[in-house]
Amino acid sequence: MNLILLGPPGAGKGTQAKGLQERYSIVQLSTGDMLRAEVASGSELGQQAKEIMDSGGLVSDDLIINMISSRIDQDDCKNGFILDGFPRTTPQAEALDKMLEEKSFVIDHVIELKVDDDAMVTRITGRYTCAGCGAGYHDEFQKPKENGVCDKCGGTEFSRRADDNAETVRSRLEAYHDQTAPIVSYYGDKGVMKSVDGMASIDEVKGQLDAILG
Ligand code: ADP
Ligand code: AMP
Repeated sequence: MNLILLGPPGAGKGTQAKGLQERYSIVQLSTGDMLRAEVASGSELGQQAKEIMDSGGLVSDDLIINMISSRIDQDDCKNGFILDGFPRTTPQAEALDKMLEEKSFVIDHVIELKVDDDAMVTRITGRYTCAGCGAGYHDEFQKPKENGVCDKCGGTEFSRRADDNAETVRSRLEAYHDQTAPIVSYYGDKGVMKSVDGMASIDEVKGQLDAILG
């Protein structure tokens, strides 16, 4: 089963993708995570992307399309994948269609997490992850059971993303409305899109997704 999760930054795509990955044995492909790994490694691609990511803009379509195209070819994608943060522009959506045809893959579901912009600032500025295993948390909405200790791995080191600050969030939401929102109609017109209420609790969104995926 291959899925696309759509929604603005902070909508809950990563949170839900991590759960879906475990429940359906499919792999999360987050272009944001891939780019952050490139930045951390100091690669040429990472150096090209860093400034744009820090400003809240979108990295070039060509770079992203090449990155996802080679990632989808890897063995762990054979059982299915969840695209999280891709496609983000109409050219990326068109390139994905072409890529899927060439590689004989099908997208089974495109699901939009519908949310209010105002809530996204709080979601993003409160987001943090375990430095050890990458489990996601939130200052208010998803605290670890024991304060300062990761539920998943017991780690005590946590990190926050450089671009998760109030100023950059505004540019990222603007980029979403200008360049990514048109994709919702792109998939809507194809008749393959479903929406869930991303303003509901994490557990409720999980339930809505499971109801769609059966
Ligand atoms: P995205 O991947 O779409 O950018 P995330 O999944 O990282 O968003 O979620 C952003 C933040 O909001 C995280 O800190 C997460 O814990 C929290 N979060 C995710 N879904 C919900 C929800 N339904 N209600 C409240 N907080 C949520
Ligand atoms: P995310 O982790 O999805 O919030 O992405 C973080 C940042 O990475 C974005 O603000 C963009 O700068 C960049 N990025 C991630 N995915 C894409 C994409 N599909 N197209 C262009 N830029 C992207």
